[in-house]
Amino acid sequence: MRLKDKVALITGGSSGIGRETALLFAKEGAAVVVADVNDVAGQETADLIKAQGGQAVYVRADVSKAADCENMVAVAEQTFGKLNVVFNNAGIMHSDDDNAVTTEESVWDLTMNINVKGVFFGCKYAIPALRRAGGGSIINTASFVALLGAATPQVAYTASKGAVLSMSRELAVIHARENIRVNALCPGPLRTELLMKFLNTEEKKQRRLVHIPMGRFGEAKEMAYAVLYLASDESSYVTGTEFLVDGGITAAYVTPE
Ligand code: NAD
Repeated sequence: MRLKDKVALITGGSSGIGRETALLFAKEGAAVVVADVNDVAGQETADLIKAQGGQAVYVRADVSKAADCENMVAVAEQTFGKLNVVFNNAGIMHSDDDNAVTTEESVWDLTMNINVKGVFFGCKYAIPALRRAGGGSIINTASFVALLGAATPQVAYTASKGAVLSMSRELAVIHARENIRVNALCPGPLRTELLMKFLNTEEKKQRRLVHIPMGRFGEAKEMAYAVLYLASDESSYVTGTEFLVDGGITAAYVTPE
């Protein structure tokens, strides 16, 4: 088992990438703390893990709130005795997020508070716990849009993911000699609720698909396997990366017909 005896905290664990990763981590031997604002689905993730014979606890945490993030780390240490892996994955893509002229300040602030400040708080409160455990691995969910612009505008989201990527790089450098690794996962467009709600017409979906060499959206599970690698000791020399799992989208200038 690739995460035997590890304790992992996953934000946004109620759905999509977070849930798939929680299930996979547990199968690979980790005790998992599932944090989210969707209590029903979060508890369901924890129950699914227990049903497959794993160890899990759900804790409500709005990652934009410092006290909630402090508490989710405390719950991990109190419940399982330590913390080794943190997956700061919770994020939103607001349906009114558009170009700079039309995007409301409130949409900008909400996106930044969850997507950027949420990752900051996740790191702020988890790093002391990782130190107590002798080191660990942090994976922050950015996006391919941290590297590429899109004509389907979502200015706040794109800016937030750029911030997650550069924050992850800087933290990787700061903590490298403490045996704490920090990597950014950069998923391509996925067939999860988050993106499908945003690309809510066939035309919008096709407009995105045309740029993906593989010609399909990715699956949350395909992210989970990448996160598993970054969380495990197999990636012991990997830190500060923009870990792209994107169906080739960032490699393409022109996609095949
Ligand atoms: P999802 O909507 O299925 O899951 C996101 C989870 O985050 C939900 O369970 C939601 O309740 C939770 N959440 C939202 N706000 C929160 C808050 N304030 N505090 C705690 N939890 C909160 O979406 P997903 O596709 O699994 O997205 C996970 C991450 O992947 C996000 O950061 C997203 O930006 C990123 N991402 C997604 C795609 C994609 O195409 N779906 C691509 C690149 C990056």
